[in-house]
Amino acid sequence: MSTIFAMCSGSLPAAISVFFEFQRLSGKSNWKPRQMTYTKLRDQREIIDHAMAVFMPGPHTFTGEDTAEIFVHGSLAVVNSLAECLGGMEDVREAKRGEFTRRAFYNGKMDLNEVRGLENLIRSKTQTQRRLAFGQMRGGEKSVEIRDRLAEMIAKTFTIMDFGEHVEMSLDSVRDSIHSLVDELSEMIKSSRGAEKAQRGINIVLLGRPNSGKSSLLNRLAHRDVAIVSKLPGTTRDSLETSLEIGGVGCRITDTAGLRDDAVDEVESEGIRRAKKKIVAADVVVIVLDPTTSEVQAKELLQTFEDLSHADAKLIIVRNKIDLKSGFAAVNFEADKVVGTNALSSDGVDTLREALSDIVAEICPEATYLLDHRLLSECRDELLLALESPKNDAAIVCGHLERAQARIAELTSSSVTEDVLDKIFFRISVLE
Ligand code: GDP
Ligand code: ZN
Repeated sequence: MSTIFAMCSGSLPAAISVFFEFQRLSGKSNWKPRQMTYTKLRDQREIIDHAMAVFMPGPHTFTGEDTAEIFVHGSLAVVNSLAECLGGMEDVREAKRGEFTRRAFYNGKMDLNEVRGLENLIRSKTQTQRRLAFGQMRGGEKSVEIRDRLAEMIAKTFTIMDFGEHVEMSLDSVRDSIHSLVDELSEMIKSSRGAEKAQRGINIVLLGRPNSGKSSLLNRLAHRDVAIVSKLPGTTRDSLETSLEIGGVGCRITDTAGLRDDAVDEVESEGIRRAKKKIVAADVVVIVLDPTTSEVQAKELLQTFEDLSHADAKLIIVRNKIDLKSGFAAVNFEADKVVGTNALSSDGVDTLREALSDIVAEICPEATYLLDHRLLSECRDELLLALESPKNDAAIVCGHLERAQARIAELTSSSVTEDVLDKIFFRISVLE
């Protein structure tokens, strides 16, 4: 493969042969790998610039190949003469866009998740996006590690099958390795699930009787007048959605239309239908009660939450209008948080915001890994089956390990098509 070079923000990756050529031209000989050296860069005729340079032998480099970086003063004249000088060397050419990443991928230094993560990192605009991109890259690295560990375990079970009692090896050690891998996968699944939610945003739904103060609370949370506040019940006919960043995660808060069974017209019942869909998709439901909400009504709201929302949905109870000194219906909610608020004066609104932030953090723990959690779960299931199999049957354990490995291979996308790769590398190159 030819040596390639690129001009990027003053640094110039080139290969060792090029580097030695420069070394020869500079007349210096005290270069050490991975050590930055000050040198006068020369071409055949004259000194180009005073530069700092370092060379790094493969495979422990970004692309896995020998790499050199030369830091010159950023003037156009300097960069141009350097490029001319490099381009004039035998079997050296300028890198195509995205070529360094592509080489890293082909040399097995990066898996597809890392490449995609890198793409997203370059693209990222918000802190959440940046964190998620890192989770994707870390996940890529980790799945390559798991792939290699599984290969080792499989090799071990083969040895046990082939040589049985002749080797000082038992399935116990393989089972121990499987055990720890199962634990690590469980962590990765949990983290990836949360990261996926952070990626798509958290859905929060305000649920309560008309006039309980949902719109007022939403306005307080969002610091702006997005919802219509009115003294007439049923004003918020449609579901109003507000985007809000809570605890660094994008959230969509929906103010549902009053879920009244006695909907007066079609517009309203359409609104109710949509509100119900929102509750089904909610990660967090906030039931807003005010002192006029009766016990029966409060129980109805709870019933709606229990009937419609998914099993993992969190519940916050807000007792709004605490300024109105009257009591609240005594209903025993098994809520994740209970907060008292006054949406007019903003009393308790900060506490509500904190409660939401705590719950969001619980739903999306640190995005350590962002991987396809379905594939991870399938891999873990195979490993669990391996653990459940008869204690000394190496063949059965091996079969499960191989199926687990296939799931991981799918994850690291060793089987991805050239077409898909071309598209990804093109996008990276445009962003680089
Ligand atoms: P929604 O129908 O649930 O969206 O309720 P709104 O936000 O439209 O509020 C209905 C009425 O209650 C409005 O007149 C609000 O000003 C009033 N309101 C909202 N929150 C409070 C509160 O905490 N205390 C008092 N006293 N009035 C409130
Ligand atoms: Zn409203």
